[in-house]
Amino acid sequence: MIYLDHNATTEPAPEVAEAMLHTLRTCWANASSPHEPGQQSKRTLAAARARVAQALGCKPAEVIFTSGATEANHLALNGLLQAAAADRRRVLISAVEHAGLLRLGAALASQGVVVDTIPVLPNGLPDLAAAQALLGPDVAVVSLMAANNETGLLMPAIALAELAHQAGARMHVDATQWVGKLPLHFGEWGVDALSLSAHKFHGPKGVGALLLRQGVTLQPQWPGSQERNRRAGTENLPAIVGMATALDALGSLTEGGQDTVMNAEAQRVEALRDALEDGLLQAFPPGTVHVWGKGLPRLPGTSLMRVGELSADAVLQRLGRLGVAAASGAACSSGGNEPSHVLQAMGVPRVQALAAIRLSLGRSTTAADVAAVVAGLPPLLLPLLEAA
Ligand code: PMP
Repeated sequence: MIYLDHNATTEPAPEVAEAMLHTLRTCWANASSPHEPGQQSKRTLAAARARVAQALGCKPAEVIFTSGATEANHLALNGLLQAAAADRRRVLISAVEHAGLLRLGAALASQGVVVDTIPVLPNGLPDLAAAQALLGPDVAVVSLMAANNETGLLMPAIALAELAHQAGARMHVDATQWVGKLPLHFGEWGVDALSLSAHKFHGPKGVGALLLRQGVTLQPQWPGSQERNRRAGTENLPAIVGMATALDALGSLTEGGQDTVMNAEAQRVEALRDALEDGLLQAFPPGTVHVWGKGLPRLPGTSLMRVGELSADAVLQRLGRLGVAAASGAACSSGGNEPSHVLQAMGVPRVQALAAIRLSLGRSTTAADVAAVVAGLPPLLLPLLEAA
C-alpha cells in the first residue's frame, strides 16, 4: 500500500506503541491518588508534560491535555468566549476552518453569539483586511488555523494575532496540521491558545492538547480539578506518554535539535511532493492538472489537485487500483457528495471542487511511491479524459 493520506492520520511510531503499552501496564494508578502508585503516575504525567512543553516551546503549565484537537478547539473557543468580558460576545472564525470548529461556530450562533466569518481570497489565504474590518471592541475570540488540512496553505496566524490583540480579543490557532510537520515555538507565536492532536504526528488517536498562554484564563467545559482546573477527567496517561514520545521522536533522528531534524524531514517530504506534482503536471496535456496553492507557502507534504474535471471518486478509484490510499479532502467530509467548504470559500466552481483529490505525503513516503503514481496514474486517467 502507498499511503498518501498523512493529513487524515498517521501510523503510530513503534516507540510510541511500546511506551504506551509500558505505561498502560505500569502506570495505571490514578495520578490524583495520594498513595505511592498514584504518585508514580503523577510523576510520569509531569515528565510527559515537560517533554511536550520542551518540544513545542512552551511552559509545562501552559499544556492542557485533551482528547484531541476537536476538544481543544471547543475548549479554546467556548472557554475563551465565556471568560471574556460581558460586552465581548462576538467571535471571528475563518471560512476554511476544520468542519468541527465551523459546526461549533454554528452552535454558538444558535445560542445568540454573533459569529462572523473571515473570508478567504481566491488563493485560499484569509483576507486580513476583511478580518481587520470585522474586528471591534465586542470581539472575544478570533480563530484561524495554522495550516489548512486540505490545501496545506500556511495561514498568517501570527499576523492575525497581532490584529486581534490590538482589538483586545483573544487569538486561538488550530495547529493540528502544523505540529509534527514544521517546527513550533509556542512562546514566539504570540497567540493565546493553540490546538494539536497526536495522531497527526505518529502518536495515538484520542489525545491532544490545548496550549494556553500563561496568564490567559478560560472557562472549562466541565468543572474538575485535573489540568489545573481547566479540564476535568482522569488523565489518559498511556496516550499522553504516547504523544510525548511521538514529539520526542521528531527531534531524535539526528543531532542539532528538533528544528534541524524537522526541517530536514520537511525538505525531504517537500521534494517528494514537488516531484509528484511536477511529474503529474508533465504527464498530462498542458492545463489539465491544476494544483491549488502551488507556489505559495504550504505544508511540505500536502498536494490538493484535480485532473481536468474528472470526479474525485473516479480518480481515487484508479489510485486504489494502484494500491494508493488518498482522499478527496478532509477525512471527515470525504465520501460525501458535497464539494469541500474550503474550495467553495475560495470560489472554485462546483464541478472543479468535486474533482479535488488530496495527496498527503509523510514519513513513510519514498521516491519509489512517487514514481509509481507518476508512472501508473496517467495511463489510467488519459482514456477517461479523452472520453469526457
Ligand atoms: N483541526 C484540523 C485542522 C484537523 O485536520 C483535524 C483532524 N482532521 C482536527 C482539527 C480534529 O482532530 P481530532 O479528530 O484528532 O480531534
